[in-house]
Formats: sequence, C-alpha cells, structure tokens
Amino acid sequence: MTTPTREQLSQVLNRIRDPKSGRGVVEAGLIQGLVVKDGRVGFMIEVAADVAPLYEAVRAACEKAARAVRGVEAVTAVLTAEGSGGAPRPARASAGLRKEVLPERGTHAQALPGVGAIVAVASGKGGVGKSTVAVNLALALTRLGKRVGLMDADIYGPSVPHLLGLSGRPRSADGKMLEPMERYGLKAMSIGFLIDRDAPAVWRGPVATGALHQLLTQVSWGDLDVLVIDMPPGTGDIHLSLAQRVALTGAIIVSTPQDIALLDARKGIAMFRKVEVPVLGVIENMSLYVCPNCGHEAHLFGHGGARKAAAELETEFLGEIPLHLSIREGSDDGAPVVAAHPAGAEARAFIAIAERVAAQIDAGVASRPPPRIVIV
Ligand code: ADP
Repeated sequence: MTTPTREQLSQVLNRIRDPKSGRGVVEAGLIQGLVVKDGRVGFMIEVAADVAPLYEAVRAACEKAARAVRGVEAVTAVLTAEGSGGAPRPARASAGLRKEVLPERGTHAQALPGVGAIVAVASGKGGVGKSTVAVNLALALTRLGKRVGLMDADIYGPSVPHLLGLSGRPRSADGKMLEPMERYGLKAMSIGFLIDRDAPAVWRGPVATGALHQLLTQVSWGDLDVLVIDMPPGTGDIHLSLAQRVALTGAIIVSTPQDIALLDARKGIAMFRKVEVPVLGVIENMSLYVCPNCGHEAHLFGHGGARKAAAELETEFLGEIPLHLSIREGSDDGAPVVAAHPAGAEARAFIAIAERVAAQIDAGVASRPPPRIVIV
C-alpha cells in the first residue's frame, strides 16, 4: 500500500477545527513537525500552556483522522504546551528547558497504572554501557521474581530491540494502547519498534519528549513490580521532562571508572536531585578486566572511582560490572548475559545489584506522597 503524502495528511488534518479560531488546525498553525514515513505519521499540536487541556479532544480527533487515511498504519500525535502561563522557575530555565512548559513534579507527575516502581537508568555520557546495564538489570530483577518492564527511552538511538533480539511491530488490540513485546520473561517497549532507524532524528526537543511521554503512557504494561527506563545518554531536556511528567521512583547512574566519566556521572546525579528524583545509586561498569585466557585481572580504566564518587555524593554504590567479552557478545547476539549465562560471574554481578535496587524499592525509597494522576 502506498504511503500518503504530507500534503494529503495536511488536508485531512485541516478538516479538524481549532476551537479557538474556528479555522482548520493546519491553517491555524497548530500542527508542527508533521512527518510521514512508510505508513507512519507523527506530528505535534502546539498550543498555549493554559489551554492545553482543552486541546486533548482536538489531538484525539487529529489522530483518528490521520489513522483513517488509506495507507496510514500508525499515528503518533503529541500535544505540546507552548509559551507560559507564568514565569518559568529559574531552575528550569538554567537547566536549558525552552519552549515547553512542564508540569511541576509532585503535582502532575504521572503514575503508570499497575506499575509499582519506575526506575530510570541514566549515564552522564554515551558509551559507558548504560543500555547494556539497563537490559541486564531488568533481566536480573525478573530472576528475583519481579514482574519487570523495560522502556527504551533513548529516542535518538534505541538499542533495546537489538539487545533483546526483538524485531517486528507491537500490536494494539484497541488501536490506542500498544502491547509490549516480550522476551526472556521481560516486557519491552522501544520507539525503535515504531519508527524507522532514521526517523527518530527528525524529532527534536518538545516533539521528542512528547512522543516519548505518549509512548510511555500508551503501553499496556499490565501489572509490573518495576519498570526500568533506559534513558538517553547525558543530561538534557528529555531527562528533565520525563522526570517531571512521570513519577520516577528513582534513578541509577551508570559510569565507567575514568575520572572524565565520573565527572559526567556527577552531573547526572545533580540533575536528578534538582528535579527531586531520588538517586538510588551508582553502578561502575567495565570495572575489572579478567583475561579469558589466563584469568589475570586488570583494572583497565582504573578502579573504585565510582565507589568513591558515590560516597562523596552520599548515594549508594550499587556494585561493579566487569569488562567481559561475554557481556558484549550477549548484547550483539540479542541474548544478554543474564539470560544466556545466568549462573556465570557476570550475571551474578547484575543479580547482586538487582538485589540492592529491589531492597531500596521495597523499603520505599519514594516514601513521598503518591503523585496525583491527571488526565487531560
Ligand atoms: P551506552 O548505552 O552507554 O551508549 P552500550 O550499552 O551501548 O552503552 O555499550 C557500549 C558498548 O560497550 C557495547 O558494544 C556493549 O556491548 C559494550 N559493553 C558495555 N558494557 C560492557 C561490559 N561490562 N563488558 C564488555 N562490553 C561492554
């Protein structure tokens, strides 16, 4: 089936009226970032923050209209609040958030129905093994008997499908909620299942965060004890917006032992604290190298830096993961080490960390009042 053009979509969308101006939504300039690619359509509806709730119905109508177009298989329509009803808080302004007005944490941070704890796995910079740790940690939690979901929030470089050896498209029973994919007893969702490899790069800033938020809240996770979120690397708008929109139980920072990575890890910790997300602790990855031939142990990138940094920053040191070929191979083969060799030393390292994380969750790290669920 042929994919409709952007112009065709624009025409169809323009039949929906902007309740304020009475004009078509395209003409009224509400539709931004319209992307049409291989039967998939994405756009955002940008409205002033104070009227955003009124426009949920418009968003839903646009989504429905776009979906009804021949050749359209999936639609991601995101409502984005532009402008400000009041002065932005200085903390947000300095954190680099532009444009988007985010709900205050604690008042609007949204819980996910049926999901017990939401844990973000983050890193100050890319390449430290964050995704590898997130996937194996999620699997380790399943081995402790937890019901676990894994959300790939790395919208610019989704790697969870590859790491879990998953492909294909998630199903939707009702055309609204997506069924998560499943592998190794883990439920998983990734923007990588929905968008072509080059498409995520099209989305920037508010569109990216909006799409991610929508994806997170429109998955039928079912009952989960823990949802692990593999965050994008670094500290940016997406992190802040997610932290403010979704009721995160806590964040885990992955770092390698080098000073430079640790410096970035500190930034990550500072960012989560600023938005009042408890930091559950730090994991040192690629900590110890054990030569597979002779068993010789070497600390290629130094050692103990993350433990020291965790102590200084008054957060828990959750453990260390060795640098090991089986970990990389497992990732490449879509068979993470915890699933492929659960009794091995590397898997045991992940399971020990999972026990510490589970203990913190069970002890109720987030012993703050439950967030209010707001449906606009
Ligand atoms: P990030 O998510 O931080 O960008 P990845 O998880 O994609 O990092 O890991 C980067 C690379 O390092 C991948 O090739 C991965 O297989 C490898 N890797 C990560 N952790 C380890 C480890 N402990 N031992 C060996 N290889 C690792």
